[in-house]
Amino acid sequence: MNVKVLASGSEGNCVWIGNDKTGILIDAGLPKTKIEKILLDNDIDPTKLDAVFITHEHKDHCQGLAFADKYKIPIYASEGTLKGLGRLDTGKIVKASGGNIFDALRMSFVMVEAFKVHHNAAEPLGYTVNGNGMKVSVMMDTGRVTDEMIHAMRWSDVYVFECNHDEDMVIDGPYHDSLKQRVLRDHMSNNDAAEALAKLIRGQGERIFLTHMSSTNNMPALALGTVKRALKAKGFIAGQHYQLEVI
Ligand SMILES: [Zn+2]
Ligand SMILES: [Zn+2]
Repeated sequence: MNVKVLASGSEGNCVWIGNDKTGILIDAGLPKTKIEKILLDNDIDPTKLDAVFITHEHKDHCQGLAFADKYKIPIYASEGTLKGLGRLDTGKIVKASGGNIFDALRMSFVMVEAFKVHHNAAEPLGYTVNGNGMKVSVMMDTGRVTDEMIHAMRWSDVYVFECNHDEDMVIDGPYHDSLKQRVLRDHMSNNDAAEALAKLIRGQGERIFLTHMSSTNNMPALALGTVKRALKAKGFIAGQHYQLEVI
């Protein structure tokens, strides 16, 4: 099983998880033709996709649903998200039960489970994907990381995390006050991502992708530095105990 972050940022988000026979997308946040082009560039056959899982109904996560329609790929999301997308009658409902119990969906090669995240959307979800002895966690837009979320993502081999902003850059930045508050409340900061990763990483060669970075409120070097510092405090060194990339 392989993971490719095909697109990341406020312009659109899209993650592919699969092998040469099959695969899934988590979020389809680019226009249809752009998704087709990126898949082509990455040697991924759209007719071999089993499902598109949507985290929430914001445009940068779902504007390419016409892509799924074109290739007749089923769309999975929470009931609230499907309602928000006007897809309740055609989409498949994913449930994230509370506490430590998660409903699972069996795919041809993987098991996908969902967990609740905290974002200004109807019913946003994060996903974990298990297959071929490998676990991938995808946590997109969320304002905070709870113990339940950490529990759902623990023992992953790959983490795809929103790493949206540096708090000081937001506060000192050009946004008006209400937008600053919204960014701080509804999106992951470098510190939030670092803190969550410090709880999750075990130094066993895990791969970390920091995604959905704001061009106004963040810098790759800042995000990388924050995460590396938090993990170094636990005795883990980038490139040695884990792999870290900004997308
Ligand atoms: Zn969002
Ligand atoms: Zn987003």
